[in-house]
Amino acid sequence: MSKAEQVQGGCLCGAVRFTVTFPTVFCGHCHCSMCRRNHGAAYVTWFAVLRSQLSIEAGSDRLTRYQSSSHGSRSFCSRCGSSLFCVSTHLPDLVDIPLASMDGPIDRIPESHIYFDDRAPWTIIGDNLSRLGGPSGLEPVE
Ligand SMILES: [Zn+2]
Ligand SMILES: [Zn+2]
Repeated sequence: MSKAEQVQGGCLCGAVRFTVTFPTVFCGHCHCSMCRRNHGAAYVTWFAVLRSQLSIEAGSDRLTRYQSSSHGSRSFCSRCGSSLFCVSTHLPDLVDIPLASMDGPIDRIPESHIYFDDRAPWTIIGDNLSRLGGPSGLEPVE
């Protein structure tokens, strides 16, 4: 059985549709306060690919960008509000995509908790994934 090389995804209303081509380069749960507030969730499971591996098939006119920090911006569907793509000038070749917006699995599973020391106090994690934090969100903690 050959493994899939692509997976499709989209927003809640279906206006924005896109295809991601593997391989991905990262997948992890982000606990930072901006992700939590932006998604209304305890944490956001992101994966990253090279920007060239993301193809917007429909609804690019619906994508609205919000500059959420000096180095990052987040795109969302202006019709249904689904949060979609996050980009940062710190890693300009990559785009972060919420795993939950995909129609099927990607080529990896979540491998870490990032910004773990910034997590909501009511978030209780029971898995054995590495817990990263500090100023970059990516340094080992505890
Ligand atoms: Zn939508
Ligand atoms: Zn985050």
